[in-house]
This record gives sequence, structure tokens and C-alpha cells, in this order.
Amino acid sequence: MVQTTIIDGKAIAAQLRADLASRIAKLKAAHGLVPGLAVVLVGEDPASQVYVRNKAKQTVEAGMASFDHRLEAETSETALLDLIASLNGEPSVHGILVQLPLPAQIDTARVLSAIDPAKDVDGFHPVNVGRLASGEDALSPCTPRGCIILAKHARADLTGLEAVVIGRSNIVGKPLLQLLLRENCTVTVAHSKTSDLPGVARRADLLFAAVGRAGLVTGDWIKPGATVIDVGINRIDTAEGKTKLAGDVDFASAQGVAGAITPVPGGVGPMTIACLLANTLDAACAINGQEAPAI
Ligand code: NAD
Repeated sequence: MVQTTIIDGKAIAAQLRADLASRIAKLKAAHGLVPGLAVVLVGEDPASQVYVRNKAKQTVEAGMASFDHRLEAETSETALLDLIASLNGEPSVHGILVQLPLPAQIDTARVLSAIDPAKDVDGFHPVNVGRLASGEDALSPCTPRGCIILAKHARADLTGLEAVVIGRSNIVGKPLLQLLLRENCTVTVAHSKTSDLPGVARRADLLFAAVGRAGLVTGDWIKPGATVIDVGINRIDTAEGKTKLAGDVDFASAQGVAGAITPVPGGVGPMTIACLLANTLDAACAINGQEAPAI
């Protein structure tokens, strides 16, 4: 029986936000530079409204400027592109995030490609995707960036480890592959068409689940002692007729097998916004030709 450590994403994210706040204060004192993040929300999706509210709150708490743009669900693609063009040209804005999903009348790829790559704090612009893949400096997507920080809390050096990522989305799986290569891991990306998924997962020293299926990964898929990072966020029904959040990993059966594991909630989730703030600080420094201050 392995002693399983819980990786406390909530505490690690709080520490990262505190470190960012002190670095942002130094940047302000030394250069009068206040990083600014603009968040654009189209429509009234309740989950998106909660995310956007949290992003704005944490941006301000870190000492950055927050610019909130809420557009009606019927907004045309042209109107959204006009807003992005004006944010691209606005010197007080260093990061632009368009909350996804967008309504059906808007072409998401066209909108993401319209964001200035230097302000693309979500890391979804093709220029940043290409830079990340070719090993150049790039703004990298927030959730994968958070996953790497969490993995490093369990294993300080990831070099040479066998990493398996389940899920090949542009938002999580593919950028995570690139970041793991940068950490010198040997990486396998598994997906819905992978044969013998449990066998592939069992090879992993580092196992990342980014699928969106509650409890898909059970304890018998995990190599004893492996580090398990659960990206999945699934709302499931409880026996009491309520709902709760669950990850892609069956947490109960992973206990006693995994060496370390992230819980859901309280694992990867809090890291995503903290990494968005980190990307905004990086973008502000790069745009202004400043070194990012140390802690
Ligand atoms: P997605 O639907 O875009 O991609 C899911 C991937 O899982 C696909 O590549 C698919 O091939 C693979 N897949 C589907 N069924 C499978 C199966 N049975 N076996 C193996 N692979 C399978 O999803 P996404 O946007 O990458 O998100 C994945 C999960 O991560 C979701 O639960 C989402 O809510 C969550 N998520 C969390 C955060 C966070 O901040 N914590 C951020 C982004 C996504």
C-alpha cells in the first residue's frame, strides 16, 4: 500500500498569487507599470459569468487592473472583432481573454486569431501555439501551465519521467504535451481512440487526466507511486439528490496506489486563474521591455 499525498492546488495557487502580488508591487514601484487584463464575455452563460467574476476579483487582488467587457448574446462577430482591435491598441491592456464558449454566430478561431499574440494570455493564438511547439518563448495556456507547477510540487525534477496525458484537446492535452517535452519527459498522448488505455496509463510516472468523464481512471490504471494530476471537472449527482464536482480520476480507488494526487475541486482548478495572472504579468513585462521582477 502506497502512502498517497494530496497535492493542495488551492494552497499552491494562493502562494503563487501572493508571489505575483509582491512582484507586481515591485514592477509598479520601479517602473510605474500596472499590468492590465481585459476579459470579454459574450452572452449570459452562468458558468462563464462565475469564471469571469473570479478572474476580475483575483486580478484586482494581485494589484493589476481589470477591464470587464460584457456583450449581449446576439453580438455580431464584427462587433467583437472591433472590440478586440481596440483592446489590441490600448496601452493599459497587456492581456486579452475572450471567455469561451462563444455563441454560434461567432467563429471562435477567427476571434482568437485576431488577438495580438503579445496580449494572448490564454495562449490560444496560432503564433503562440507554434512558438510553444518549436521551443521558443511563448505565452502558454493557463491550465497546462498550472498542471506542470502541481506536478513539480510532487516531483521536483520531471526529467526522464514517463508522462501520459489522457485527452488531446487544444486547450489542455496538446499544450501539456509541449510543456512536458520542455521538462524532458517521455510523453504519450492518449485519447478516445487509444487501444488498451488502462495499459498505457499504467506506464506513467506522471499521469494527467483531461477527458471530462467522471471516475474514468480507476486505481488499477495507476502505476504504484505515480503522480496523478486530475484536470477533469464533472458535475455528478449524489445519492442525496444533489450535485457535486468530481474529477476524471476515481479518487477513492486511486488512494493507496498513487504517490501523489490532485483533488477535484481544489487541485488544478485554482491554478488556472493564478497562471492567467502570471501570463498577464509576463505579457506586461515583455510588451514594455522589462525583466519580470523576482519575488
Ligand atoms: P475536450 O472535450 O475538448 O477534450 C476531451 C479529450 O478527451 C478529447 O481529446 C478526447 O479524445 C478525449 N476522450 C474523450 N473520451 C475519452 C475516453 N473515453 N477515453 C480517453 N479519452 C477520451 O475537453 P477539454 O477542454 O480538454 O477538457 C477536459 C476536462 O478538463 C473537462 O472535464 C474540463 O471541464 C476540464 N477542464 C478543466 C480546467 C481547469 O481549470 N481545471 C480547464 C480546462 C478543462
